[in-house]
Amino acid sequence: MKIAYLSMEIGLNENIPTYSGGLGVLAGDHIKSAADLGIPLVAVSLLYKRGYFMQNINPMGWQEEVYPYFDPRAFMEPLPMKLTVPINGREVKVGVWKFTYQGLKGKVPIYFLDGDLEDNTAADRLITQHLYGGDSHTRICQEAILGIGGYKALKRLEGGITTYHMNEGHSAFVTLALYHDHDGDLDRVRDYCTFTTHTPVPAGHDVFDYELAEQTLGSFLPAQIREFAGEDGLNMTRLALNLSRACNGVSELHGEVTREMFPGYEIGHVTNGVHHLTWTGPDYARLYDQFLPHWRKYPEVLAASEQIPDELIAEAEVSAKRRLIRYVNATSNAGFTEEFLTVGFARRAAGYKRATLFFTDMERLLNLTRNRVQFIFAGKAHPRDEAGKKVIQDIIRTTQTYEGRVRLVYLKNYNMWQAALLTQGVDLWLNNPRRPREASGTSGMKVTFNGGINMSVLDGWWREICQNRVNGWAIGDDEDTSDEETAADFYAVLEEAVTTYYANRPQWIKMMKASIADCAPRFNTQRMVKEYLEKYYR
Ligand SMILES: *Cc1c(COP(=O)(O)O)cnc(C)c1O
Repeated sequence: MKIAYLSMEIGLNENIPTYSGGLGVLAGDHIKSAADLGIPLVAVSLLYKRGYFMQNINPMGWQEEVYPYFDPRAFMEPLPMKLTVPINGREVKVGVWKFTYQGLKGKVPIYFLDGDLEDNTAADRLITQHLYGGDSHTRICQEAILGIGGYKALKRLEGGITTYHMNEGHSAFVTLALYHDHDGDLDRVRDYCTFTTHTPVPAGHDVFDYELAEQTLGSFLPAQIREFAGEDGLNMTRLALNLSRACNGVSELHGEVTREMFPGYEIGHVTNGVHHLTWTGPDYARLYDQFLPHWRKYPEVLAASEQIPDELIAEAEVSAKRRLIRYVNATSNAGFTEEFLTVGFARRAAGYKRATLFFTDMERLLNLTRNRVQFIFAGKAHPRDEAGKKVIQDIIRTTQTYEGRVRLVYLKNYNMWQAALLTQGVDLWLNNPRRPREASGTSGMKVTFNGGINMSVLDGWWREICQNRVNGWAIGDDEDTSDEETAADFYAVLEEAVTTYYANRPQWIKMMKASIADCAPRFNTQRMVKEYLEKYYR
């Protein structure tokens, strides 16, 4: 058995800007746990030399993007080889960089494909410059490099692949590469492929005009492509579904939603996780080393976290919070204090995540939180997502309009480093997506390894573990509700949390421990990768 894992983005750490958000971080965590378990897996992605952007906020509160040059040479090794991928009737040259992730038990090589070579035309050199940049032509070219170039790279460098795991539809052209290599034998192609979808709405799936696809890929598109990929447009999700032996969503609810969206396919689910060794901060790691020494290899032993004395749990929390507050104050002059209940909300600024719902009733929020609660927001909007940028601007305007009355900061340039600092340092982590749009969500899982408490809509992963008032708080119940109802529910549970934090410390610490004990053993990528191994890998 040897698994090839293909992903448009892979987030390994903040040094390498080849990820934009949850999808890439999940891919990195998947790879890390596979290496920890010694599972034979190799990975392929693209190298973006002007990566995902860095975020500035102008005086109007509007996001601006800058694209500094990323030099990969400190982190990866350029391999002395070139591939070609047929694009627009030319053979585009593609270089390969190798990154090796060393886990507890084994190594996983990650091959980053790079079109920025001198022998390419100026236009072709730009194909892999930016993650999720450019138009649909750039996108289909990137996906051709990922799927077709990825297949060729693996054939030359690895061989013996038994399963191609497509992480999202972006890499679905690998099925066509297999198709050509196996003389159009569809059963053979399906035999090799498994597919994970992450997007619970039709608009989130890549669909290319056939005219564009034919112009870009020419004879690489099989004559019967419309049978595999849809009549009206080349739908990468349909292509992946039709040419895979198996498919899964990323939480129980997301599995259900995906089955409704794509009737007629067998679709299961594997709930996402996070890599425990990446996301547990130093303070808690020390505690776990002391009290639950096998947690690094067996994160499920964190179920026994009630053995850790309350005062040490509280100390670890304050220490992580102190690091976060220092950063907040050093970058914003906000005058935050470790004495206050510290609430975080950070993730991509996408409309469905409803970051501004908390401000529905400002008077109520001010009364509830005055001199007791401080809020930290962060998250990038996609460069072309005006609505997402408006969300950021609304948050920043709220901090200005209510300055002195609400403690609220917006941290710019959210990335993996900041995500770690935040998820380790907050007391409470908010999440209120429009159900069922958050296929799984993973940032809340990071919080649980660090004694933080989730307060979230029952969507994705949280719906599978939340026991309200025991291991966290539920906003609303297990059904889809309006924005108004969700906001009202939010104020009610926030009030409860504030009261518990200040008036009932033993109860708060009990909830911190329940958050660790209930969530950490399950929502880690070790459990997740083992599930892929049992259900989907061979
Ligand atoms: C974990 C992580 C995410 C995912 O956050 P969600 O709340 O699950 O959407 C996004 N961005 C970064 C940088 C992360 O580390």
